Amino acid sequence: MNIWDTEITALPGVGEKKAAAFRKLGIRTFGDMAGYFPRRYDDRSVLVPISDLREGDTCCVRAMVADEPRLNRVRRGMELVKFRIVDDTGAAEVTYFNQPYVKNQFHVGESYTFYGKIGAVGRRKTLTNPVAEKEGQSRVTGRIVPVYRTTAGLSQKVLVSAAEYCLDRCAGQFPDLLPEEVIREHDLCRAEFAYRNIHFPEDFLSLETARRRLVFEELFTLACALKILHGDQTPRSGIRLDCPDPAAFYATLPFTPTNAQKRAVDAALGDMTSGHAMSRLVQGDVGSGKTLVAAACAWAAAKNGRLTVMMAPTEILAEQHFRTLTGILEPLGIRVGLLTGSMTAKEKRTVKAQLAMGEVDVLVGTHAVLTDDVALPGLALVIVDEQHRFGVEQRSALAAKGEKPHVLVMSATPIPRTLALIIYGDLDVSIIDELPPGRQKVDTLLVNEHYRARLNGFIRKQVEEGRQVFVVCPKVEEDEDAPDLGLHSAEEHAAYLQNEFPDLRVGCVHGRMKPKQKDAVMSAMVAGEIDILVSTTVIEVGVDVPNANLMIIENAERFGLSQLHQLRGRIGRGPYKSWCVLVSDAENEVSRERLKIMTKLSDGFAISEEDLRLRGPGDFFGNRQHGLPETHIADLGADMQVLQDAQTAANALMEADPDLSAHPALRRQVDRMIAAAGGTFN
Ligand code: ADP
Ligand code: MG
Repeated sequence: MNIWDTEITALPGVGEKKAAAFRKLGIRTFGDMAGYFPRRYDDRSVLVPISDLREGDTCCVRAMVADEPRLNRVRRGMELVKFRIVDDTGAAEVTYFNQPYVKNQFHVGESYTFYGKIGAVGRRKTLTNPVAEKEGQSRVTGRIVPVYRTTAGLSQKVLVSAAEYCLDRCAGQFPDLLPEEVIREHDLCRAEFAYRNIHFPEDFLSLETARRRLVFEELFTLACALKILHGDQTPRSGIRLDCPDPAAFYATLPFTPTNAQKRAVDAALGDMTSGHAMSRLVQGDVGSGKTLVAAACAWAAAKNGRLTVMMAPTEILAEQHFRTLTGILEPLGIRVGLLTGSMTAKEKRTVKAQLAMGEVDVLVGTHAVLTDDVALPGLALVIVDEQHRFGVEQRSALAAKGEKPHVLVMSATPIPRTLALIIYGDLDVSIIDELPPGRQKVDTLLVNEHYRARLNGFIRKQVEEGRQVFVVCPKVEEDEDAPDLGLHSAEEHAAYLQNEFPDLRVGCVHGRMKPKQKDAVMSAMVAGEIDILVSTTVIEVGVDVPNANLMIIENAERFGLSQLHQLRGRIGRGPYKSWCVLVSDAENEVSRERLKIMTKLSDGFAISEEDLRLRGPGDFFGNRQHGLPETHIADLGADMQVLQDAQTAANALMEADPDLSAHPALRRQVDRMIAAAGGTFN
């Protein structure tokens, strides 16, 4: 058996109990331990002379114990061990709290390396509870020290020695997953060097070299896994439609489509007439006019006498699409139907009958459309709006209803292009990177609590002019466990505003409400029956209230930039000058920096790239919506270039060796990654 696969229980001092703790961290074997990378590093490689110690610094000092350590009982439950240390440049005092045993560990006249935080009592420098080692040892001092994520029953110290032990035992047997030519071409270091230096870097340059290699390896494996999962990329055959000239369609619109819209339509029509099944993602910022692309495709399908189904994640959105599509398509003789869960049984029956008779050309709906008893004869095109709210299973359940219908997915989450290629490896991507002309820029302001009174005055002014206001809060209700985080809850804040504006109509909507209740409130807002709507992020997804021109986001620091951008996209959709006010008392430099980006940028892609850079992909996507496995070392945001290189290299390799049979170690790692992700990535 390979040493790499040795059970962690083979470590000295690790019994069943400790092994369980290791397992909690995902470590079962020596190889797992080697792959358990430090969370960060402490630079203890520099030794600082005592005279150069500065209060507040954390650093390493090598010095001699100058007097016998003394144990003092200050009061019950408080024991101090104190002694003096000296080097050529000065003296300092070391204090240990409640560790009486250290008294016997330090001996006068012997030198030790101490690592800890420097304090001062008067002019005397002090070190409190420093980590210490005898001179000559350098496990936790005098070098760059790894800091691991720990768990109950496994201390930092145990993990450090475990890593050291495993690396030593594995010497000469590190599995090199990457093919020789890839290592050479990309100038990567060897696996052994990489593993050693990622845990115990000789210096920061070696650390960087090691990291680059491991990131590459991880992304390379990921790219291979994606390729295997997405399988045979030869296009599936699909319904071949005839292509009508879209100019005929454009001529009926009240406006001229943007070039970006035309490009997306051309690409989609090209797919639908190719004889292969379309799988296309249309990505465009909020308000970029994705619905028009959908309408053009539905029009083309109808021209071929075929059915289109358009699915929205909520009833309110479905109704909105129904109205929009009816407005565009009905004058052209195309019949649009609606099917949602809240319709009466009778209404549903009518629509289903019409569908069966072929009297509907475009069906708009929620996932009610997926229930089995809806027959969709002649289905040729499936359009899914707001992909992120829509499970893959639903996507494929719908696709399974027709004979390989064309699929068009629309998403407003502007994912940087490279990442989209990885995530939607099985989709072609069209990007609408242009807003319709005359679109108002939403003026965005960043304010703090001091502006509350003025802000309320501003709300009053807008409502008096006939406008409506959105207010977004980070949570639903007052949290009993942590009432004092200073966060605004939607329910409370709605009560506050109603009290502040007794004569105005204040509504509240949040995710804990039943879909029916939620839709009722949203519809009231759309109908202009609510002046101020307080909500959580449930309004993030494309609801159109052109009359709303002010959005206030409370505790704005709690939201991701892309999320703020989505929220802001709810306003500025009508002819009125619009404002977005970010309210935040956060003083933290990074938080202010992030929010300031919102006041400067209005392009969703630029914002998402900043967001990705600042927060890392985990947070960016929220609860792993992207469906990619968690990467251990690679940062999908920051390592974009490596990602691209790794993908190119992986593609080249798999061109020659499609199932990786000539690269068994790599294949094993790929399978492991797929298994860890539950067998599928999205
Ligand atoms: P989103 O991409 O967010 O779904 P929509 O499709 O809802 O955007 O379009 C937003 C608004 O822009 C709609 O009111 C739509 O009528 C309008 N619109 C779309 N395309 C154009 C265009 N080319 N010129 C002018 N207005 C447009
Ligand atoms: Mg939309």
